[in-house]
Amino acid sequence: MVKIVARKCTITRSQEFEKKTLATHALNVGVLCGHGCLYCSTPAILRTQSKLFPEYDGSAFKAFAAGAAAVDPTTPDRLGPELAALKPTDTVMLSTLTDAWSPEAQEFDLGRRCLEKLLRESKARVRILTKNAAVVNELDLLAEFRERVILGLSITAPLSKAKVAEVLEPRASSIQERLGALQAAHEAKVPIFGMLCPCMPGVADRPDDLDEMLDMIKPFAPEAIWAEPVNARGPGLRLCQEALADADFIAIANEVRFIRGQREHLDYTARLIGNLNVAAAGVGLKSLLKILVYQDGEGFRGDGSSVIWLKG
Ligand code: SF4
Repeated sequence: MVKIVARKCTITRSQEFEKKTLATHALNVGVLCGHGCLYCSTPAILRTQSKLFPEYDGSAFKAFAAGAAAVDPTTPDRLGPELAALKPTDTVMLSTLTDAWSPEAQEFDLGRRCLEKLLRESKARVRILTKNAAVVNELDLLAEFRERVILGLSITAPLSKAKVAEVLEPRASSIQERLGALQAAHEAKVPIFGMLCPCMPGVADRPDDLDEMLDMIKPFAPEAIWAEPVNARGPGLRLCQEALADADFIAIANEVRFIRGQREHLDYTARLIGNLNVAAAGVGLKSLLKILVYQDGEGFRGDGSSVIWLKG
C-alpha cells in the first residue's frame, strides 16, 4: 500500500549528517520507504508519530511490516525560497530517511524533480544516496551538473552473497543492478562515493566479504567510502534473522541473532572496524574510509583513525 502524505517541511538542516561528513542538509520525499529493507531504522525514528499511521494502530513498525510506503508527491513543488538561501558550501543529501528513487517515489518522478530544482535553483552541492538503479534515468542531469553532484548506491553485500541481499532488501535493486548504475555514472564522469551500509554480520563483515566489496567499488574511483555496522535499534535485527532463516540462510540468521545482545553488538562493531581498516589498507583505500559508529569511542582499543564516533 502506498500512502500519500502532505508535509510542511522541505529542506532541513541536519547536524547528524554534518557529523557524518555526508551533508549539511537533508531532503526527503516521504516518511516511509517502499524498498522494505528489513533492517531499516526509519520506522524507529517515526515511532512517536502515531498520527501518521492510524490504519496500522498508529505504529510505523506495523505499517513497514505490512509493506506500506508513505510518500509526499508535493515535495518538489514546495521547494521555494530555501533553495536560493543555500550556499555553495552546503550539501543537500537526497535522501536521509527514505529513498528518492524507491518505487513509490518513481511513480511521481520525485527523485528527478527534486534533483532538478536543487541543481537549477540553488548553488548547493547534492549528494544522492539510493538503493535503486533507476537513478540512471537522471544521468543527463547528473552529467550536466557533475561539478556539484555526487552519487552513491549502497553496496550491502559482495556479489557472491547477492542472494542474501535480496532477502534483506526485497524491493531494492539487486547488487548487480546497483553496480551497473555506478558503472554507467562513472562512464558519464559523474563523481561517485562508496557506501557500505549496513555491514551485516555473516554478509558484509568478514575480511573476504570486505575485500570483495571494496574491489567492486574501487574501479569507480570513489571520492570517499563510508561504512557502518547494522543498527540494533528497533525490531530490524529480529526481522532480518527471521527472514534469513525462512530463506534457509540459517548460519547467517544465527550470526544476526547473536549480535542482538548488547555486548555482542559491541564486539561485532569492534571486529568490523578492524576488518574494514585492514581490507581498505589492502586495496589502497584506507585514506578514503569513514566508519560511522553510534558510540562514543569509550573503551575502544583498536585503530580508530577512520571512525567517526556519532555519540558524545
Ligand atoms: S532504501 Fe533506505 S530508507 Fe528505504 S527501506 Fe531501505 S534502508 Fe530504509
